Amino acid sequence: MPAPLATVAEEARLAARALADFAGHVVHPTVRLGVTGLSGAGKTVFITALVHGLARGGRFPVFESLATGRVASARLAPQPDDAVPRFAYEQHLGTLIGERQWPSSTVDISELRLVIDYQRQNGADRTLTLDIVDYPGEWLLDLPLLTKSYAQWSAESFALSRQQPRARLAAEWHAHLATLDPQADEDEQATLTAARLFTEYLRACRDERFAMSLLPPGRFLMPGNLAGSPALTFAPLVVPSGRAALSRSLWAMMERRYESYKDVVVRPFFRDHFARLDRQIVLVDALAAFNAGPEALHDLEAALAGILDCFRIGRSTFLSALFRPRIDRILFAATKADHLHHSSHDRLEAILRRMLDRTAMRAELAGAAVDVVALAAVRATREAQVQRGRDRLPSILGTPVSGEVANGEGFDGETEVATFPGDLPADLDSFFADGAAFRGLTSGAAENTDFRFLRFRPPRLQAVDQQEPALPHIRLDRALQFLIGDRLQ
Ligand code: GDP
Repeated sequence: MPAPLATVAEEARLAARALADFAGHVVHPTVRLGVTGLSGAGKTVFITALVHGLARGGRFPVFESLATGRVASARLAPQPDDAVPRFAYEQHLGTLIGERQWPSSTVDISELRLVIDYQRQNGADRTLTLDIVDYPGEWLLDLPLLTKSYAQWSAESFALSRQQPRARLAAEWHAHLATLDPQADEDEQATLTAARLFTEYLRACRDERFAMSLLPPGRFLMPGNLAGSPALTFAPLVVPSGRAALSRSLWAMMERRYESYKDVVVRPFFRDHFARLDRQIVLVDALAAFNAGPEALHDLEAALAGILDCFRIGRSTFLSALFRPRIDRILFAATKADHLHHSSHDRLEAILRRMLDRTAMRAELAGAAVDVVALAAVRATREAQVQRGRDRLPSILGTPVSGEVANGEGFDGETEVATFPGDLPADLDSFFADGAAFRGLTSGAAENTDFRFLRFRPPRLQAVDQQEPALPHIRLDRALQFLIGDRLQ
């Protein structure tokens, strides 16, 4: 069957853009680096720290080109995509360093261009343009919807919502769902109520006490300029298998809107942003999941499988070869490692690596190198040995943000305290064996931990020789080396 005219025109437009991108990259070598992760994973802090470290010259011993002095300068340049907001770097940096507060988080896509002048290893002077694209991981987790029908998505969402702790949080939505007959006449009010209750259920799952990760459709929690539009006003129904929706039924209405969501939200994101990335870092707040317990960790594992699936789906099933994602390096980074003692950093990395291996999907990403790191883009804590009775315990020191409470004690946002983070397990085989995965991790840590849920303020910095101070970090340089080190050789 010949492709519809609109599809042909669309493919031609995309082909022209792909060619323009390609030609531009030949003249001005460019890397488009995607930074993603679920809400609160640390994208804004990561990009701010990365740009500051490159522009100011941070302490990055493992980032070879900078450490050996081959990077002459890194400066901001006007953001190239007219339809995408600029990442508010200066504002975020001011908040972080000037006010010692965390900047406001990512709620939409944004972009920043950095131009790096460097000397090649053979001595030749070169320039690399680094376009950093910040986008919510929730949008990435929407990509699998492209391969699912409304009936499939409904069945999967409903099945997931019957597992604990989700089932508890879904009670009100389930009660409403039970009153709906999918083949009854379409009904805007019933649809509005279903969408509202379904969204409230998703929001409750995201709460830090449950820290669920797998919550598509992503725009339900981050609607942006589409809030209230029909493309965001639908919900799963329990529909009979092997049957089709009657015309003008509730089912048909929901199905049409689900397809609109794919057309209006998911496909444009894939085409205009995802398919144009060269490198990708996926930030993961594994510690939030550890804090919430085994269900949250299983859910995170499912989300990681979903994310890997996006890279696989992109490679095998989308559009023509020309628009296949060209991402050839993917880094999974467990963030906020400064909440742990350094003896646990390797373990955090190992746990994330094992979770990815368990999804058994890495092998299918032929052509893309995948690596894992535990990092803190901004290190808010220091390490110390603290005497407790006869023991000297490895602890971390930091200033809890104002309003935090632990063990009945409130914090003023100025006083530094010592905390004893639990050790992560070293023996991963028994940790992951026999379906016992994750059990014991949180209980083991909880015993000797006073303030596991504390959030710390960004560190106090001191300017040296009137130069703007560098932000302390953990392994940010390793992440950079993997993501762009080869392009600066
Ligand atoms: P986003 O939603 O992915 O953009 O997440 P943010 O970058 O806004 O980070 C969310 C919160 O996580 C911040 O407000 C901080 O409280 C915390 N955070 C992020 N990165 C770090 C880090 O490197 N160290 C520490 N201690 N906290 C961090």
